[in-house]
Amino acid sequence: MKKTTLALAAALLPLMAHAQDAQIDRKVAALMKQMTVAEKAGQLHQISGRLVTGPASSDYAATLADIRLGKVGSMLNVKGVADTREIQALALQSRLHIPLLFGQDVIHGYHTVFPVPLGESASWDMEAIEQSAHIAAREAAAAGIHWTFAPMVDVARDPRWGRVMEGAGEDAFLGSAIARARVHGFQGKQLGATDSVMATAKHFAAYGAAVAGRDYNAVDMSKQQLFEVYLPPFKAALDAGAATFMNSFNTLNGIPATGNAFLQRDILKGSWNFKGFVVSDWGSVREMVPHGYASDLADASVKAINAGSDMDMESYAHIKHLEDAVKSGKVQMKTLDDAVRRILYKKFELGLFDDPYRYSVAAREKAVLADPSHRAAALDVAQKSLVLLKNEGKALPLSRTAQKIAVIGPLADARRDLEGGWVVEGDRAPVVNILEGIRSHAGKAQVSYAPACDTRCTGADGFAEAVATAAKADVVVLAVGETWDLSGEAKSRTDITLSGHQEQLFAALKATGKPIVVVMLAGRPLVFNTIADQADAIVYAWFPGSEGGNAVANVLFGDYNPSGKLPITFPRSVGQIPLSYAQYNTGRPVTDEKNVVYKSAYIDSVNTPRYAFGHGLSYTDFKYSGLSISGQEMSPSQQVTLSFDLANTGKAEGTEIVQLYLRDMVASVVRPVKELKGFQKIHLQAGEQRRVSFTIDRELLSFFNSQLVWGAEAGDFKLMVGSASDDIRLEGAVKLLPSR
Ligand code: BGC
Repeated sequence: MKKTTLALAAALLPLMAHAQDAQIDRKVAALMKQMTVAEKAGQLHQISGRLVTGPASSDYAATLADIRLGKVGSMLNVKGVADTREIQALALQSRLHIPLLFGQDVIHGYHTVFPVPLGESASWDMEAIEQSAHIAAREAAAAGIHWTFAPMVDVARDPRWGRVMEGAGEDAFLGSAIARARVHGFQGKQLGATDSVMATAKHFAAYGAAVAGRDYNAVDMSKQQLFEVYLPPFKAALDAGAATFMNSFNTLNGIPATGNAFLQRDILKGSWNFKGFVVSDWGSVREMVPHGYASDLADASVKAINAGSDMDMESYAHIKHLEDAVKSGKVQMKTLDDAVRRILYKKFELGLFDDPYRYSVAAREKAVLADPSHRAAALDVAQKSLVLLKNEGKALPLSRTAQKIAVIGPLADARRDLEGGWVVEGDRAPVVNILEGIRSHAGKAQVSYAPACDTRCTGADGFAEAVATAAKADVVVLAVGETWDLSGEAKSRTDITLSGHQEQLFAALKATGKPIVVVMLAGRPLVFNTIADQADAIVYAWFPGSEGGNAVANVLFGDYNPSGKLPITFPRSVGQIPLSYAQYNTGRPVTDEKNVVYKSAYIDSVNTPRYAFGHGLSYTDFKYSGLSISGQEMSPSQQVTLSFDLANTGKAEGTEIVQLYLRDMVASVVRPVKELKGFQKIHLQAGEQRRVSFTIDRELLSFFNSQLVWGAEAGDFKLMVGSASDDIRLEGAVKLLPSR
């Protein structure tokens, strides 16, 4: 009986959803019948509220008037119940009373700050990532926001690019899993629930591959790379239900993404059948003029909308020129209607026509922002994000008994630097910094502190005091790295070594002979060869958020056994960039670490990175053994199971992220030497052992062939299981048989 009811409900759900879609379609159509072309163009116009809520500006009155005239469809940077209510009230005075959409960059938290996305990605923990996105959404939605411009799902393999911080790192497979988790987290179970916001998959597409890592720069890439590496996380975000996409500033093979019909019409709205809407990036419609792709703003408006870019963020292109373009026939009415329909559909879906203020409720704003469970979640994901890069001689964990700990470095007592870039201006949760975290967790250990220099570390005046402080201690904890403002948008760097005199500070402390534990803050992989060679232990803390200091202290004292793994390769020098574990063999592969002339190698460096993708240590040891594969061959419709034993052979409980890689040995298109195809987080008590399995099916063996057709080719596949991309512990093989 129960079974039949469940089956019936399952069968009815899609029908009900369909009926709801049809109902919204009808409402949108009825509304659009009443709209003038100017009002339609208004729905495509998005402006920043900084004008409205910021210091009085000459545009202030004009902006308010435009909103009342129905000439604005959406605003960004208006937040908080009071402001969103005030501005929404203006929109409701317009002829057709169409509510505004409020968008905001809620990238890694709204009030409670979570680790920057790259850091959080090092947790490889989809539940924790989904939860942090959900809390960010819950807080933002309680403050009147309907829509976040996140997640950024751009694959990034160049740490010179400052925006690697906002993404999930270098890998398409891990990046796709994280894209799904973030979209689910932001959007919750259903759009329109007031603890969720619409997500935006951005920046479509290939923005992360800017030439030389210089932000906004051109992208030139084969379709093979585009389909194989850069598009999959977008597809994953779409499949997870992402309500909107944002296009990007870059050109792709000569065509600006914003005016790119191949990306937006053929792929996104065509073969992927995306039903939501596309928002341009800030001013990216206008930027097609300096690109040399549009002759003026009017031409840019035409090119953007015809190519499938729906909403114009801050270019004022559509609001100024679209009406004329429709009149002259440069833009067809049905093209405009399609864009407007997509946007209005979302406004209905969010319930804004039923109650335009439903997200802006003062009591909820107060209660949600004060919810103590949000801090607990921030601590949880922050400690999962920390990566133990090195721990020689077991300098960590620190002991709390009869120890003197010298905490050195300006970033130890910094606060803003723990949050990282892209935080929402205004009232944010207080930050626990590293020094406070260590002090409150130190127990009987004595903690002394010397900043040594300011956060830029440009002067060495404080070094003597720092060295003296270190000399009196048993162990030094040195907090160095990047300040928050050195990574993020427009923060590309040609030199990603530690800025200022930080390496000298390390050398001076090293000379004391004391063990040195380095805690590094950064939004990107940095190059720090002396520290990597000589520090006793290194914890990469990224920008860990509001609870960062507690997370770092928990790891340092061993209250949390680190489990993070790098989502991006750490090079030895800028000269190696771009560098990814998923590289292709040359005809002259390097099989050892020696730089043999005539091999595909450098004469002044090994090819290997400083720290490989997937690297991260633990306070315990994990042993991999007993690999078995359920069959040596499989037909395309079959699958095989790969299994092995994972044992915690150390003394502490801990979590290992086991990674499955494969290589298609011979194919019609050369395949990478390793591709991540699976991972699992396994928690084991000391001494515990568990059998771990992965299923290998045709889908997992598939790739885009030279015709960009997705499929698997018969032949041999090498299967690799390990603790990092450069720490493969077990190897096997399977043969895919031809289809009959
Ligand atoms: C960024 C986007 C962001 C937008 C709105 C742009 O400069 O590229 O990622 O969402 O600004 O703030």
